[in-house]
Amino acid sequence: MRIDVVSIFPDYLAPLELSLVGKARTSGILSLHVHDLRDWTTDRHRTVDDTPFGGGAGMVMRPDVWGTALDDVLQDGAHLLVPTPSGTPLTQRTAEELAGEQQLVIACGRYEGIDARVAEHYRGHPGVRVSEFSIGDYVLNGGEVAALVLIEAVARLLPGVVGNPHSLVEESHGAAGLLEYPVYTKPPQWQGHDVPEVLLSGHHGRIERWRRDQALERTAARRPDLVERLDPDALDRHDLVVLAAHGWVPQGGRLVRAVDGAPEV
Ligand code: SAM
Repeated sequence: MRIDVVSIFPDYLAPLELSLVGKARTSGILSLHVHDLRDWTTDRHRTVDDTPFGGGAGMVMRPDVWGTALDDVLQDGAHLLVPTPSGTPLTQRTAEELAGEQQLVIACGRYEGIDARVAEHYRGHPGVRVSEFSIGDYVLNGGEVAALVLIEAVARLLPGVVGNPHSLVEESHGAAGLLEYPVYTKPPQWQGHDVPEVLLSGHHGRIERWRRDQALERTAARRPDLVERLDPDALDRHDLVVLAAHGWVPQGGRLVRAVDGAPEV
């Protein structure tokens, strides 16, 4: 996979040389290129922004500079990704889809963002897909951190990046739609806290069931929105008992919160 990031602060992307993403680059699994948007400016001051039409605070990034840069960087079949707090929330499903693409190009905005015509223009381009994405309901100063988040989420899904691919299977937000169970390592006793006995039992069946129960309990306690999205038909009887203890019961093909035994609607 090839990823291009365009930013006015290319140094902000330096962490992409570290850890698993850095190794993926060195091994050739990932071809990653960071570009300085100002390299496509033509004036003495290397200007990338101007005042907003209609007035108001702040500056807006110019479409002409972005257009020249993106025309150079986008290859046929590319997916142009524009980070913005008004974009579609980035999820693990999005990361999985993007991991199958040939080229991702991330256009990092600054100031009040990029002139809206840029995304509109490339949406009409044959051979280019455009997605505006958000990494959460808060506002950052620029798109670089969002680019780092997206690249890390996508890169670890590329074959060969994570040493043991099995470690991706039961992770939070995976196919099961649950949060991951709690994890422990040596020593078995620490500061008066013991590792749950079942994990020391060597009994694979019991361990698997305990982990599944923990994942269900954790999801019910922390993320009721994820429980609402579970398909009751994909759960076994034991799963349903665990969820019922947290007040969730199947009704009409989904899970709903029960109050005093009666489903809440
Ligand atoms: N005026 C914009 C608004 O209210 O929607 C916010 C612009 S923000 C200060 C500057 C840049 O930071 C954006 O163009 C985008 O690239 C990035 N950014 C800020 N928050 C973000 C978020 N939650 N997700 C993705 N990108 C974000």
